[in-house]
Amino acid sequence: MTRRRRIAAVVLLAALAWTSYTLRRAAIASFFTDGPGAAAPAWTRDAGPGDGAASRVRVVLLDGLSRAHAAALPELSRRCATGIDTVIDVGFPTVSMPVQHALWTGRTQQQSGVQYRIGRIDPPPADALPIRVPSSVAVGESHRDIVHSFGFARTEPALDRDEIEAAESEWREGEFAAQAEAAVASDAALAFVHVLRIDEAGHAFGGASPEYAAAAAEADAMLARWVAADPSPGRTRWFVLADHGHREGGGHGDAEPEIRLVRACIFGDVAGPLVEPTPVHLVDLHRALADALGLAPAPDAVGRTLAGAWASPELDATLPRVAAIDRGIAGLAALAAIALAVRWLGAYAIAAILWPCVAWLGVAVVHGAITLSNPVVYPPLGAAVLLASLPGFAVLGTAMHRAARRVGVARAAAGLLAPGVGAWLGVAWLAGVPQALVGGPPPLVPFVSGWASVLATIVAGGFAVAALVALVAPRREDGP
Ligand SMILES: [Zn+2]
Repeated sequence: MTRRRRIAAVVLLAALAWTSYTLRRAAIASFFTDGPGAAAPAWTRDAGPGDGAASRVRVVLLDGLSRAHAAALPELSRRCATGIDTVIDVGFPTVSMPVQHALWTGRTQQQSGVQYRIGRIDPPPADALPIRVPSSVAVGESHRDIVHSFGFARTEPALDRDEIEAAESEWREGEFAAQAEAAVASDAALAFVHVLRIDEAGHAFGGASPEYAAAAAEADAMLARWVAADPSPGRTRWFVLADHGHREGGGHGDAEPEIRLVRACIFGDVAGPLVEPTPVHLVDLHRALADALGLAPAPDAVGRTLAGAWASPELDATLPRVAAIDRGIAGLAALAAIALAVRWLGAYAIAAILWPCVAWLGVAVVHGAITLSNPVVYPPLGAAVLLASLPGFAVLGTAMHRAARRVGVARAAAGLLAPGVGAWLGVAWLAGVPQALVGGPPPLVPFVSGWASVLATIVAGGFAVAALVALVAPRREDGP
């Protein structure tokens, strides 16, 4: 290879590394934009009568409380044992704002297009339940954009109270619990309390940490205080639920059952005990909430009565699915890339398949399962993924150094990178990345979206490693 051709190869590989990195950043940015609404879940609508309205409705949302931890909380369990104790599937993504949007509007994340919203929804959805209850009140422990997104008549803390978000703020230390108690004890037809300390402990210390367990225990103690403040015990209907669980190492967002399925209890004016471990969908719980408030759900809110939902659970029915044809296209992309590697490299094709697998394994071993719940999939540079992929990059660099002598630098790089690129393109296709990059809906599909992000980082790193090796690789030795 002439010097000029070698330099051209280095420049091209570096440009491809940059392109992969840029595409990944654009795809991740598009996670957080609201998309167009999709069809309602395809299940039979249940017109059966609900439970009838209650004189007061109290909703307590324990943000980030996993089902396993909820089962161990004494006060919650004591209350659940007097009413309905069940499980809800919060849908996908398992992100607080979109999950609450589904709770209050009765539309799934895909139906509304509010899939991975972080910022406040302004104006609030016009048919959200709180906006339709004149005396509704909400009290949020922190992240006040969430309680301010659904049109409660009164919301605490005020939107301009920036100081409440600080860890040791007066609001958090005492005002919050007292204000929540006052809201519960008030005449409001609907009072909502959003507890965030469990989620915050999950992000900071992990779902398996003592801090997370302690936050859950504190929330349980506060719940005892709030239920005791009920002005008309036995006539108020209480809904206590979580919006998602947490990974052991902290994080949520994807569709893992331990994150997506949470405990929900309804007690107060309902007959019990009724323990039903069959999950209902969050939009079914919306229906129960609307019934309790004496409101009709929106026409496109297809939640069933709880009895109807338990009778035909439609498990996982709200999760986005990949069409068979798209799976076929992705599989073909990966296979074609492997075939190219074999054609260009012969036996070295094994290294071409091996290095991305070693890199992937490194990430999974160091950081845990690769899903949208794993914080490692989001950072712009992906330094943590790159570091964990080093063993894979070592395989790539070594193989390229050797293969260059046999087939030349350009062909060695192309062959060694093809399978990783093919796998990445296939997975990105499954996640809907190409459509998202030209303005389509956010590329959010359970599991594969997280894989696409990590594969993009691995591929970008692979191009960069190949560019470096291309600088120093030996010249091709022509056969004797
Ligand atoms: Zn969270």
